[in-house]
Amino acid sequence: MLIEKYHIFNVLEHLVEDITNEMFSMPNVDMCVCDRCRADVIALALNHLNPKYVVTEKGRIFSELETYTFQMRAEVLTEVLKAMEKVKRKPSHSLEESLYKEVNVDLDKLEKHFKDVQKKNNQK
Ligand SMILES: [Zn+2]
Repeated sequence: MLIEKYHIFNVLEHLVEDITNEMFSMPNVDMCVCDRCRADVIALALNHLNPKYVVTEKGRIFSELETYTFQMRAEVLTEVLKAMEKVKRKPSHSLEESLYKEVNVDLDKLEKHFKDVQKKNNQK
């Protein structure tokens, strides 16, 4: 950057990243959660949002919470959800490479657990 004393950045980048990470960490997320898809969601959402650049003095910590209004969060969330739908339907990689949350493994374990319990009960 040409200007040395000040830092210019799009606060939405942080917000979109935060919200995307929040959405991807939900236990019921039903799409690939690999880094490529996560990055694609962030890029897509950012392309659909008007950037919000701010200037801060270098070295000064930018207070993010004050800048993110409720409306901004709502707008970002909407775009993130739309981007997730798009990436889910058309990931940048083959479907075989998709990385899903290990919900299935947990269900299998749960099933096995119940079977074991049943077995034990039957033995009594
Ligand atoms: Zn992926």
